[in-house]
Amino acid sequence: MRIILLGAPGAGKGTIAKFLCDFDGSIQISTGDILRAAVKAGTELGKKAKGYMDRGDLVPDSLIMNIMEARLQEPDCEKGFILDGFPRTIKQAEELKDLLKKLDIKLDLVVNLEVSRDVILDRLTTRRTCSNSECQEIYNIKSKPPTADGKCKKCGSPVIQRDDETEEAIVYRLKTYNEKTAPLIGFYETEGMLENFASTNSQETVEGIKKSLKSKV
Ligand code: AMP
Repeated sequence: MRIILLGAPGAGKGTIAKFLCDFDGSIQISTGDILRAAVKAGTELGKKAKGYMDRGDLVPDSLIMNIMEARLQEPDCEKGFILDGFPRTIKQAEELKDLLKKLDIKLDLVVNLEVSRDVILDRLTTRRTCSNSECQEIYNIKSKPPTADGKCKKCGSPVIQRDDETEEAIVYRLKTYNEKTAPLIGFYETEGMLENFASTNSQETVEGIKKSLKSKV
């Protein structure tokens, strides 16, 4: 499948993407994960991106488009891809449209994950992430805790609260989402690509997406 996942921070994009990848072998491309790995590795890209990310601001479009132009041409994308956290602005969406045309790639669907602000705030303030950039397993202190001493159950690395998941940063990220990213819903609606899915129960959401994809084949 070739799909875009839209939704506010905490809407469940990462979780849904993982289920969909397990289903048909498509790969998840998360610009957030790529940027966090770059920050951790201390690369030029990471140094440029860190300040924006810590504040909850978006990284400049030009940096993101450079990453994605290269990433979409890697051989593993031939199996299909799920874009998680990209595009985030109308400019990125317009440039992605041109890029896909140039690469002769057709998208199947744009999925918009809908969830209330209260649920988002609760999910994000209780979320924890494995600090190992190769793993990045997501935990939740209420519903999916790590080990008793705060370690990842998959790889044993410490599980941490991300710098951009403090309450202050989350409120700012939601504001950024409403101003810069929410307009993409209208953009893809106009393109005739958009479908909305409630994102309260991930299994039900995944089943709904699979059904919708099937009806397009
Ligand atoms: P995420 O894990 O997708 O919430 O991304 C974490 C942070 O990385 C965001 O708050 C932004 O600072 C940055 N980021 C991720 N994807 C993008 C993007 N497509 N455009 C601009 N900034 C991004």
